[in-house]
Amino acid sequence: MINHLHVETHSFFGLKPGPNVLVLGRVHGNEYCGTLAINNVINLIQNQLVNITSGKVTFVPITNPLAAIKGTRNGDRNLNRAFYPKGSSKNDFEDELNGILSPILEECDVLLDLHSFLNGVKPFALIGNTAGDEKAIVVNQEKVYTSESHLVSALEVDTVIANWSETYARGVKNRRKRDGILSPPFSLNYDEKYGDGTTEYARSKGALAITLECGQHEDVSAPRVGVNAILNILGCLRMIEERYNPVADNRKISCISLFDVIDKISHGDKFTKNWKTFMKIEKNEIIGISEKGKEVIAPKDCFMVFPNQNAEPGQEWFYLGEQS
Ligand SMILES: [Zn+2]
Repeated sequence: MINHLHVETHSFFGLKPGPNVLVLGRVHGNEYCGTLAINNVINLIQNQLVNITSGKVTFVPITNPLAAIKGTRNGDRNLNRAFYPKGSSKNDFEDELNGILSPILEECDVLLDLHSFLNGVKPFALIGNTAGDEKAIVVNQEKVYTSESHLVSALEVDTVIANWSETYARGVKNRRKRDGILSPPFSLNYDEKYGDGTTEYARSKGALAITLECGQHEDVSAPRVGVNAILNILGCLRMIEERYNPVADNRKISCISLFDVIDKISHGDKFTKNWKTFMKIEKNEIIGISEKGKEVIAPKDCFMVFPNQNAEPGQEWFYLGEQS
């Protein structure tokens, strides 16, 4: 039974010093794979099929219990937005959760947040940006240098998206300029801090943080992708005896760095095709046509990311990314 009056965590401490890893499942209540993957790994550890020899790993199988009870993405609101402690001004269930979860995120060295998606086929991951994110982690008195790009290479993904939060924040600033909203307080749509989710918050406190989209919501292989991700990251950080189910080291992972986000302006703005994430767009290709008949044209060869035909006017319609 899920209880939304508390949050349940499981921690395992290896006897030797090492990194502090946090794994979150079901930040979105309808994304079951994270919970299934975490419970599976807890089982492996409890049955000594995997042994944590150094460091600490904390699992949160159900990060948003209210959303999980409802079986929907959000409880009162999206937990993966405006993620920071709210002090005494708590307005909803997720604000209460922020107060409980923030200290756990603040103390971790590495965060793995497990999600699933509605539209799409293959698993993919999101990292911060690809430049200069290397971090020294002490494992067993030895410094191990790692980075989000390095950790992500241990996951079963062939595509990684970078630069989401910078692009989001730039989009919000453009939106303020466009709509003539000049000074705070800003409502959610005009507040770049609204874009801060679990990984952005953890990163702001010095952690390496990865969001793994394990597969489509109903995909039966998504929990396995999550299990392998947890074990491979623990292996990479030398917290378990051996790498479990390692993925081939010579795989080519393509990294798509976001560079622009375009808002939908009117209800009548239409895409020219049924765009899906990672579809290629050619320079000067017409991506969409506004209600007033203006063509929205690709500035260069790039990729479509997170197109949302149902976006509300004034909100993100699609992102553009390029290979990096
Ligand atoms: Zn999600």
